[in-house]
Parts: sequence; structure tokens; C-alpha cells
Amino acid sequence: MNMPTEQAALVPAEATAQTQSNATQAHYDKSDVTLRDRLIEAGILIDTGEDGLYGRSAIFEDIVERLNQAITLLGADQHAEVLRFPPAMRRRDFEDSEYLKSFPNLAGTIHSFQGSDRGHHRLLEALEKIVHIGEEEERSDEWMDQQKPTRLVLTPAACYPIYPLVAKRGNLAKDGATFDAFSYCFRHEPSIDPGRMQMFRMREYIRVGSPEQVMAFRQKWIERGSLLVELLQLPFEIDLANDPFFGRGGKIVADSQRAQQLKFELLVPVATPDRPTACLSFNYHMEHFGELWHIRQADDAVAHTACVGFGMERTTLALFRHHGLDVKAWPASVRELLWGDAAPIISKGLAKMGQEA
Ligand code: AMP
Ligand code: ZN
Repeated sequence: MNMPTEQAALVPAEATAQTQSNATQAHYDKSDVTLRDRLIEAGILIDTGEDGLYGRSAIFEDIVERLNQAITLLGADQHAEVLRFPPAMRRRDFEDSEYLKSFPNLAGTIHSFQGSDRGHHRLLEALEKIVHIGEEEERSDEWMDQQKPTRLVLTPAACYPIYPLVAKRGNLAKDGATFDAFSYCFRHEPSIDPGRMQMFRMREYIRVGSPEQVMAFRQKWIERGSLLVELLQLPFEIDLANDPFFGRGGKIVADSQRAQQLKFELLVPVATPDRPTACLSFNYHMEHFGELWHIRQADDAVAHTACVGFGMERTTLALFRHHGLDVKAWPASVRELLWGDAAPIISKGLAKMGQEA
């Protein structure tokens, strides 16, 4: 069932992909395409009428919060600097990040009306216009002509606001730095897969330092992420992965990302029939962000970075998928981890792995 994580990170990319695709096959039938409808019907997710944009009920939010607390316990020994940002970042930092080079189709920019009374008048007039799309009548989007870009964009990943900030602080200390981030993120990828939202939360730990420091961090978190999901009693596997780079050149970048084993994902069957869903990801960016932002190690060498991202909505959805919509009927040990005393459960799990927290 579960791929031993040390092995997953050590075997050559091709062998990993082969073993994993066999394992993945076995999990296809554990996905449930009815999950979205069942959650909406039960009032756990609230349909807004827009694919990938949902309201969350009290119980959904409670699970997200409890998971978040469990992740805090899991990383207690990291002494990470906690940083929280609103789900927007400086447009300028975003432009510098080269996100638009790789994922122009996913980015979300923030526009606002910045005109005069005359512009306002035009906006209101345009708002009255109706267009016909096939049989349907819809409001024209001509009013948007009056909207101008602001200096903010929506955050695409929780770690993005961290890098420019670290760079501004000057050279790193000898043992580098570790950060703890949590943010709503935006990606323009409307879908009826409940696991593919347009706005969702990501909890991250981010490591900045030498290649050895960040690689050790990533390996540690592949193991810790697996521990958490095991304690949640979810079926999973760790697999080599790539980001969905845009365009014709995208495949080459994705292949190279795979060949260098830069991204691993922890996958759980959730709602898609063709493949399990990435609930956690473990990324090594090499010098990419270090070079872009001029982040320096203590000895002036360019810093390397890595991050572990926990998909809060996807993990919550996986729990509903595997343990049912009635949280009171969830396995006792899962309930204890989320609503009981999680600290001893997590330290015991870490100790078993030889990773005392
Ligand atoms: P990534 O930066 O793509 O590796 O994403 C980090 C984590 O965020 C993933 O492991 C997912 O759990 C979560 N995630 C990414 N995209 C989405 C999405 N569209 N909807 C919900 N969660 C997502
Ligand atoms: Zn990240």
C-alpha cells in the first residue's frame, strides 16, 4: 500500500514512477465522484454557483483548524518563525517571482475602479448591458473596462510573500532560517472536482539555507507528512511529481523538474476517478528563489530553499471521503488526534520514526 517514504525519495525517478503508477492504479476505485454533491447536500460545503468557490460550514472549518493545530505540533521542534499575510501580495514582488513565466493561466490579479465621475457613469451604463450567449442572456463584462490594475495580486502559494522578506533581512545565520506560513491562495483553475478549488488554504513550513540543510528538511517532512496522514488513517502514497508548467515549453521544464526529483507529493484518493489527489507537497527549489531575490547564506553563497505545503481543504475532503460525513462516526484514534490530546500521539509517532520533536 504505502510506499516507504525513504525509498520514495531515494530510488531513481523512473523506478519510482513505475512502482507508484502500479500502486496508484489500485487506489482508483477508492475515489468517489459523488463526494462534491454529497458534501453540498449535507451543508458541509456551500455551493456559490461558481466552480471551485465554496462556502465552508462550521464543521469543515473546525476540521481545518484541528488539522492546523496537529501540523503545529508536528513542527514544534523546528522553531519556525510564524508569519501570516493576507491572501494578497505586492504586485511587484509577484512580477519578480517569475510566476507568470510558468503559470500565467493560474494567476489572479486585483483590479479596482480608479476613475472619475464620468468613468463611474460609464461603468453603471455598461453594467446595464446584456449579451446573448447561445440561448442564454448574460450581463456584459464591458463594465470591467473601467477597472484598473491595483498594486496587489492574489497570493498563489503561502510561501511566496516570505522570500522577498528574507532577502531584505540580509545574510542568513549559519544554520539558515525556517518559516511557518498559512494563507488562502488563489489559482484560476475552475473545476467541479471539489479538490480543485480556486481559493483554498495552504499551511507551509519553508526552509532557507544550504543545499544540505534544505534537502534534510524536505526528507524530514516527507516522513512527518506521511506520519500525519497515517495517523488520520487515510490511504496514501508518495510520488514524484511536477508542477503544471504552461505552454509548449512547459513539458520540458516539467520533465526536468521530474528528472531532478524536485517535487514529491503525498496523494490520497479523494474525488477524481483517474488519479488520487495531491494533499501535501514537498518542494526543493534549488537556487531558484535564492537567485531571484538575492538571498544569501552566511558565507555569501546563494541560498537554497524548500517548502512543505499542506492542502487544508484537500486533507479535510479526504477525511470526509474515507471516514464519512458524520464526524462522530470517525475512527476513535482519528477523533482523538483532532479533538482530543494530540500532543502525546504526535510525539509518540515522531519517536517511533526516530524524530523526537
Ligand atoms: P502546490 O504548490 O501546487 O504543490 O500546492 C501545494 C498544496 O496545495 C498541494 O499539495 C495541495 O494540497 C494544495 N492545492 C494545490 N492546488 C489546489 C487547488 N486548486 N485546490 C485545493 N488545494 C490545492
Ligand atoms: Zn511553497
